[in-house]
Amino acid sequence: MPPTVDAPPGVTGLITVDLQAIVDNWRQLAFRVGPGCLTGAAVKADAYGLGVLPVATALAAAGCRWFFVATPDEGVTLAQSLAKTAPDARVAVLSGPIPGTARELAAYANLLPVLNDLGQIAAWRTAAPGRPALLQLDTGMARLGLPPEEIDRLAADPTLIEGMPVTAIISHLACADEPDHPLNALQHASFTAAAARLPQAMRSLSASSGIFLGPDYHFELVRPGAALFGLNPTPTQANPMRQVVGIKAKILQVREIDAGRTVGYGATYAADRPRRVATLGVGYADGVLRAGSNAARVFLGPVAIPVIGRISMDLVTVDVSAVPPQWVLPGGFVDVLGPQYGADDLARDCGTIGYEVLTRLSRRLMRLYGPVAA
Ligand SMILES: *Cc1c(COP(=O)(O)O)cnc(C)c1O
Repeated sequence: MPPTVDAPPGVTGLITVDLQAIVDNWRQLAFRVGPGCLTGAAVKADAYGLGVLPVATALAAAGCRWFFVATPDEGVTLAQSLAKTAPDARVAVLSGPIPGTARELAAYANLLPVLNDLGQIAAWRTAAPGRPALLQLDTGMARLGLPPEEIDRLAADPTLIEGMPVTAIISHLACADEPDHPLNALQHASFTAAAARLPQAMRSLSASSGIFLGPDYHFELVRPGAALFGLNPTPTQANPMRQVVGIKAKILQVREIDAGRTVGYGATYAADRPRRVATLGVGYADGVLRAGSNAARVFLGPVAIPVIGRISMDLVTVDVSAVPPQWVLPGGFVDVLGPQYGADDLARDCGTIGYEVLTRLSRRLMRLYGPVAA
């Protein structure tokens, strides 16, 4: 039988987000790092596209007290919400008080900027005297954080930071998903050495994959994102996380085509024999990446169904010749992401990473939150 879905009849694509699975994943990571280390949550980019308010609310209720977002705007939105539901939770803004934002950030007592250079430190001390912040050190990504020469100046001149409590010192690993990469140990060494020259504070080096590099990488605070949302933090091994996200797409039409007929824009797929084609009501405008044309799969229960032809803005065509016709009826749903085929799998078939698949899921897809039946 085609699966039925409890959605309004006009909905052609929907995302299911299992908040209980996110909480279970957070607890699994908290257990892994043990009681001496706090487990935060990276919920930037709208919690990787899944909806920052429901996700953060669920994690805060489970005991998460540190939330990391990218931009000042994301920080303000989340800080306002958590102030009501979890007043002792803290929101850290990774890009820091970029010019023109320090005063606004200072208006929220539960919001802390991550300071990435001496200029940001000075701006924060001026806009928010006595208010705490995090410091980010560049230990090898050359992306954000105090570069080595600024770390030296700060260590040599404590007046640059006088009166500003440093809550945590953080850095970010470039290659944590490759356990044998030599940069991991190099970054670990320069992080530890630099933190020892700066004011006493919690230290935080690891995101999802770093947690799996072992206890040396945990320090006092970890900042997982991807693993909370079911992406595999250990790409060289089986995924230890619970799956979180499902996408279901409605079957709009089913047709039989003769050998020699082509499917979709550019006629990139030609039937070598008669085929049955189902057209699904999602496309790249929903975040089903066009790179999955003639490559991705969808699932009907346990049965893999290949995408044929190009993925277009609103539609995906799939070859259902191998499936009994009574399973594939207009109005039924197939899994674009589901228990058989997660975001990492779709990403691999599209030549990208699960992070990009999740963050590109569009607002047109209806969202259902819960522990949701498969
Ligand atoms: C995105 C990000 C994280 C979370 O990374 P994941 O790989 O998703 O766990 C943590 N820290 C920083 C600085 C980040 O930019």
